[in-house]
Amino acid sequence: MKTLTRNAYAKVNLALDVLRRREDGYHDVCMIMQNLSLYDTLTFTVEEADTLTITLACDKAFVPCDARNLIYKAIALMGETYHLTGHVHVELVKRIPVEAGMAGGSTDCAAAFHAMRELYGLDVSDQELMKLGVKLGADVPYCIMAKTALSEGIGEVLTEVAPLPDCFVVVAKPTISVSTKMVYENLHANELQHHPDVAGMVDALKQGDLSGVASRMENVLETVTTKLYPQIEEIKQTMKESGAENAIMSGSGPTVFGLYTEKATAEQAAEKIRQQYGLSEVYVTQPC
Ligand code: ATP
Repeated sequence: MKTLTRNAYAKVNLALDVLRRREDGYHDVCMIMQNLSLYDTLTFTVEEADTLTITLACDKAFVPCDARNLIYKAIALMGETYHLTGHVHVELVKRIPVEAGMAGGSTDCAAAFHAMRELYGLDVSDQELMKLGVKLGADVPYCIMAKTALSEGIGEVLTEVAPLPDCFVVVAKPTISVSTKMVYENLHANELQHHPDVAGMVDALKQGDLSGVASRMENVLETVTTKLYPQIEEIKQTMKESGAENAIMSGSGPTVFGLYTEKATAEQAAEKIRQQYGLSEVYVTQPC
């Protein structure tokens, strides 16, 4: 029996632009992705068997543990592609907020690709894993790469950029549920009045200029979500009034995050948001 434990890190979008809707229904995007020190933990065990079987257990009852889970899908796809056999069991400790715009499922999926490669000693490059990964979700290639990156195409064209300078990132997940599909369907990509300065953000990252990055933080999906869910805008304002360099929504939401230079300020802001909005999923994290 072999065992392996991996952490799977959440992401936020420091900038999120949508360029156009494609004929296949996907959208061409231009985003800056950053991992945070908020993670799920996956423990894999593999026992010999004649066929490939997969079981999954999670400490949170609302996470599906069957073939709908992206961890299950990743193991099945690796098994099919590389003709693997064995009984694979995964224990998932879920800490990343679910349906939050933090790529929780995608990052677990990426961890499963990495773990399967290691457990079976496969000679497969990250590039190959990313090609498989995009079949399961547009954010999966980024989660396989897991470095600060410019993400283009539907999310699969990745270019490493300089990391976010040291800071503290407060993450707050409102209790509302936002469907990614609904957000994209209601976005009028061709009519957007304003686009984030992504190129300027890449330069600011290169210069290690935190306030230059913060001043360019923008997510065009907020044009849909803040009208429907005013609390997103309210939490952004609370973060800014509590000392954030800037605050925006991550992905298709509803999670809001803010960048802080001082740990104490970030912790005070997090506590204020917990109290004011009655939220339990509020975290002080760091880039990683
Ligand atoms: P993204 O930022 O990529 O849009 P998200 O934060 O909106 O992701 P997830 O947390 O990844 O959404 O979960 C979306 C749905 O996917 C959940 O409702 C859940 O049923 C399903 N799911 C599949 N695999 C997982 C997983 N490993 N962890 C959490 N949810 C999963």
